[in-house]
Amino acid sequence: MTNTQFQTKVHNFSAGPGILPQVAIDNSIKAIQNFAGMDLSILEISHRSKQFEAVMADAVQMVKDLLGVPVGYSVLFLQGGASMQFCMIPMNLLDENDTAAYLKTGEWAMRATKEAGLFGNVKVVATSENENYNWIPKDYTIPSDCNYFHCTSNNTIFGTEMFSFPESPVPVVCDMSSDIFSRPIDVSKFDIIYAGAQKNMGPAGVTLVIIKDAILGKITRKIPTMLDYRVHIKNGSMYNTPPVFAILVCLETLKWVKELGGVEGMETRNKEKASLLYAEIDRNPLFKGTCAFEDRSRMNVCFILTKPELEEDFLQLAKEKNLSGIKGHRSVGGFRASLYNALPIESVQALVEAMQEFEKLKR
Ligand SMILES: *Cc1c(COP(=O)(O)O)cnc(C)c1O
Repeated sequence: MTNTQFQTKVHNFSAGPGILPQVAIDNSIKAIQNFAGMDLSILEISHRSKQFEAVMADAVQMVKDLLGVPVGYSVLFLQGGASMQFCMIPMNLLDENDTAAYLKTGEWAMRATKEAGLFGNVKVVATSENENYNWIPKDYTIPSDCNYFHCTSNNTIFGTEMFSFPESPVPVVCDMSSDIFSRPIDVSKFDIIYAGAQKNMGPAGVTLVIIKDAILGKITRKIPTMLDYRVHIKNGSMYNTPPVFAILVCLETLKWVKELGGVEGMETRNKEKASLLYAEIDRNPLFKGTCAFEDRSRMNVCFILTKPELEEDFLQLAKEKNLSGIKGHRSVGGFRASLYNALPIESVQALVEAMQEFEKLKR
C-alpha cells in the first residue's frame, strides 16, 4: 500500500474537507460496489448487519490502537460535526451555576466558548484575540473550582498549534479536529477528545469522540437522548443509524495511517513537510509567515506576501501549477496550505518550487 495521490497531478492543500489517501478512496469505491463479498453496496445494507458491525468494531479498535486509548474511555462516532460537540460538551458537563474554563485561540475556540455560555458560566482563561490569534497563550491558570477546561489543539484558520498542554486541576476537553492522528498524544491527559473527521481522518459526516466514562453523570440537567453521551456509549454509537459510509472511509484511512507507521510515522512525515514549507517562507523575501515561530502549525501553514498587491499573480501561478486550495481564510488573508496526513511531500515540493519561480519572476 503506497500513497499515489501525487500522481493525480492536482496538489490538494484544501483546509477541509481535506485530502484522503488514494487507497482509502479506492477501497471505499469497492465497498460501494460490493461490500464484504455480499454482492450489495455498503450504502444499501443494514447497520445492524454483522458485516457493518465488524466495520464499527474495527474502526473503534483502530482508534484505540493508534492513539493508545487507555481503559475507562469510550470511542464514539457521532453526527453533527465538531460544532455539535460545542454544545454537547457543556450540556453533559455543566450545570447552570457551574463554570467552565476556555482557552480562546481562534474562530473554533470562540464558537465553542459561545455555546458553553448557553449552559453555564464561562471563564476565558486566556486569549490571543487582539493579535488576530497569531500565537498560543501559555501563561494562565485554570481555576480548580470549574467543571472542565476546553482547548483547541490546532487552530485551522489561523495556523497555530499547541505543542504542549497545561497541567490541569480539572478535566481537559480538547477539539483536535484538524490535527488528530497527525502526531502521538497522551490520551490519559484528556477527558474528552473530539474531532470532525473531514480534516485529517475521513469524509464529512462523522465526528470522533473519545471520552472518559467516569466524567459523566455528575450534573442534574435533563439531556435530550441524542445529545447524551451515555446513550451513545451504551449503544456503541448505534442508538440510531450511524453514518455508515463515512465510518467505513475513516476505517480505510486509519488502516493507511497504521500501514505508514501509525501516528509516529505520520509525525515524521508531517514534520518533514512543514519544515520544508516554513524554510521556504522564511528564506524567500517575497513571503512571510503570519504566526509566532514556536506555535506554527504543522497542519495549516498560513503565510502572506511582503507585497500584498501580488496576491492575485501568485494565485494565478498556483493555478497553472495545479496547486489547489491555497487561498487563505478571509479572516487572515494571504495563503493557507493545509498539509494533512495524506498530502505527499511531492505536493509540498511543488508549492516550494512555485514560490521560487515566483521570486525569480517578481524580483
Ligand atoms: C473544521 C473545524 C471545526 C468545525 O467542524 P464541523 O465538523 O464543520 O462542525 C471545529 N473545530 C476545528 C478545530 C475545526 O478545524
